[in-house]
Amino acid sequence: MDYNIGDIVRTKKQHPCGSKLWEITRIGVDFKLKCQGCEHVVTLPREKAIKIITKIEKRAEE
Ligand SMILES: [Zn+2]
Repeated sequence: MDYNIGDIVRTKKQHPCGSKLWEITRIGVDFKLKCQGCEHVVTLPREKAIKIITKIEKRAEE
């Protein structure tokens, strides 16, 4: 899968706030994901981010 900034993705585990949806806000060596439930931002190494993302829920608008 290829990812774009602004994509909404689903992860295996839910955030403590209960949401499993995240917006990708940065792509590179690290990915930044913003929780769609509480807006908490996490930074993850690319490999780990790709491992926990199960699907792209909504593509960013072109
Ligand atoms: Zn959250």
